[in-house]
Amino acid sequence: MIYMDHAATTPVKEEVVEAMEPYFTKYFGNPSTIYKVGREAKKGMEEAREKVADLIGAKVDEIIFTNGGTESDNMAIKGVTLRNKDKGNHIITSQIEHPAVAETCAFLEKFGFEITYLPVYSEGIVKVEDLKEAITDKTILITIMHVNSEIGTIQPISEIGKIAKKKGIAFHTDAVQSVGKIPVNVNDLNVDLLSMSSHKLYGPKGVGALYVREGLRLEPFIHGGGQEKNLNSGTENVAGMVGLGKAAELAKRELDNNMKHLSNLKEKLVKGILAIEEVYLNGYIEKMVPGTANFRFIGIEGESLVLLLDGNGIAAATGSACSSKKLKASPVLKAIGLDVVDSHGSLRLTLGPENTEKEVEKVIEVIKTSVEKLRLMSPIWNSR
Ligand SMILES: *Cc1c(COP(=O)(O)O)cnc(C)c1O
Repeated sequence: MIYMDHAATTPVKEEVVEAMEPYFTKYFGNPSTIYKVGREAKKGMEEAREKVADLIGAKVDEIIFTNGGTESDNMAIKGVTLRNKDKGNHIITSQIEHPAVAETCAFLEKFGFEITYLPVYSEGIVKVEDLKEAITDKTILITIMHVNSEIGTIQPISEIGKIAKKKGIAFHTDAVQSVGKIPVNVNDLNVDLLSMSSHKLYGPKGVGALYVREGLRLEPFIHGGGQEKNLNSGTENVAGMVGLGKAAELAKRELDNNMKHLSNLKEKLVKGILAIEEVYLNGYIEKMVPGTANFRFIGIEGESLVLLLDGNGIAAATGSACSSKKLKASPVLKAIGLDVVDSHGSLRLTLGPENTEKEVEKVIEVIKTSVEKLRLMSPIWNSR
């Protein structure tokens, strides 16, 4: 199999599995207890917290473990808005957020919050000027993702953060697609809250973290025993946290090498694919993470292409994994100006460190022949 869907999820690294294993068996204790096996669990958890903090330049106390990227986003957005609802009811976000942010904002709309969705233009990037204009004296939260999951574009988080800071508005970024892929430092990015997910960086599924800047108070939305500073009640997923910690440690160590490797692979991939007639890259390539490439093939259905690739042992995606089961056009591709037909002709390839040049060559070759095959049967292509 050639796996090129790393934006959907990544395999768990062997070293991560090994680090987790003792926390299912030997150190199974409840970290809230004071006897030895509980203390050992707690120790594993706290060491993991240090590693996560270290990866993003945060203080240990600023890391809250969650049950994944989705929960981190919910915790940040609901936490800030419910806590500050007396100060205002306005949230600024973008048109290309992950459903974990977009749907949370839509939920809050039902309770009287007003949302501004910033446009991203054909480049797939928000404009800082638009953000400045959108701010009102009712704005209590800005939430803009760091890297888009479908097209890989990098948003001007640091500049947005500067503006938010000056205005005293809490600023959250969903960094699930950037942590472990490009340098991420909470101070350089000027963020107050940052979401990350373990399974997008070679850790296990069902665990993540939320960075919460020291001094910022959130309203909890899960109530119970008060774990994770009262923000995530429930007995901790210790093994998962340890796994995320290990994945964070490895991500930090391998970041530079991975970035170089992925940039080389992507250059080759993009060159090979764009050599096919009537193929375009979605999003502005100069501001994109190294591993992501989203192409649109004129006259083709992305779904059919994915199936042909699958038949050749290649795992790739149309739009985002979450929306590929629905017939609706991807909101991200719509936001960059694609019509429904072009949007359905898009294919996302997301590379990972274990991909090789040989695999890229093979994928280019299979896509080339698949596209030819599909276009022979395509009424859109043949009636151009
Ligand atoms: C995958 C993803 C999420 C959700 O993370 P889970 O851990 O799967 O809940 C949120 N935001 C972005 C940008 C993602 O790519």
